[in-house]
Amino acid sequence: MSAERSPGNGRARYAASDCRPQMLHGYVAGTSRNNGVAGEEVSVTEAMAPLEASTPVRHVRELERRVTGCTSCDLHRTRNRAVPGEGPVGARLVLVGVAPRRQEDLQGRPFSGAARNVLDNALLDVGLDVDEIRITSLVRCRPPTDRTPTSVEVETCSSHLEAELGLVAPEVIVSFGALATAVLYGRSLPIEKVAGYRLSLRRDVTLIPTYHPVDAVRGVPQAAAALRRDLGAARAVLDGRLRTGAQVLQDLRARATVGT
Ligand code: SF4
Repeated sequence: MSAERSPGNGRARYAASDCRPQMLHGYVAGTSRNNGVAGEEVSVTEAMAPLEASTPVRHVRELERRVTGCTSCDLHRTRNRAVPGEGPVGARLVLVGVAPRRQEDLQGRPFSGAARNVLDNALLDVGLDVDEIRITSLVRCRPPTDRTPTSVEVETCSSHLEAELGLVAPEVIVSFGALATAVLYGRSLPIEKVAGYRLSLRRDVTLIPTYHPVDAVRGVPQAAAALRRDLGAARAVLDGRLRTGAQVLQDLRARATVGT
């Protein structure tokens, strides 16, 4: 059942050293994929900076003002609208994507068009109420031609995500795709290997990586099913039906102690 390995060896578009918003990095240690999907567990112990805002905000409107008025990187020159996060600040679950695309840039809202349909259907399928979830992204302005944001853009924009996560203080974060996972986890992970794992961040935050809804739109095999499965796992953690990342870590440590 338990196979130990390092999750840092796989390929990803960004190495952890490429994107250095260190304040986002949690104390990452234990993972377990949900409900018998993979039967693998990973044990990693690595001290990192705490998950907290370097420049705290006290109100969501302050956060929105910062984002919509931000000119800190070159993406502000080509954007139509910056896209602050959406959803209640008391949300227990935060979904983190990568960057606005064309529709989001025009509408000023995260996740529009086909990807939004995929996400909404997956949330509906697993019984999560979108009105109770905060949806946000690493970068708040659309990169031209919908390219992947550069490491500099990700790092520059990370202060907004830090502030947002500090304000919302979620119990569970679902990261969409390898880049969002790498930034939150602090190291690169191949999404096909870690989708559905429960990672432990500081403050008992559980991080669940999964595929990006855009992957499902593009027909990436298993993306839609994995997205649904992993959002279901997020709900199960919130409902107390599935162990949190911290509890998984605790079990792994206990087992390691018994085995020594
Ligand atoms: S992408 Fe982020 S850092 Fe760059 S201008 Fe937009 S809000 Fe500011």
